[in-house]
Amino acid sequence: MQKLPTYYLPMEKNGRVVIPKPIRDAFGFSSAGFVRATVTDDKIILESGKTVCKFCGNESVLCEDFPICPECIEKINELNELKK
Ligand SMILES: [Zn+2]
Repeated sequence: MQKLPTYYLPMEKNGRVVIPKPIRDAFGFSSAGFVRATVTDDKIILESGKTVCKFCGNESVLCEDFPICPECIEKINELNELKK
């Protein structure tokens, strides 16, 4: 892989940080969706997101085109029951 420089990324007040395009391209981050952040003792590891639930980030989604996990579908169904 091409060697990339160390970036110093400005953080907005709400904690938002933009991952520079060369890093996004090199690691296959798509323009939308989830980035998985894992914290170790002294580092934060960012990985390109697999298809995950749009509501909670759970990886066990039922299908790629409809990325919602079974637990969230159940909650949605419960909310729909309450509306009736
Ligand atoms: Zn979910």
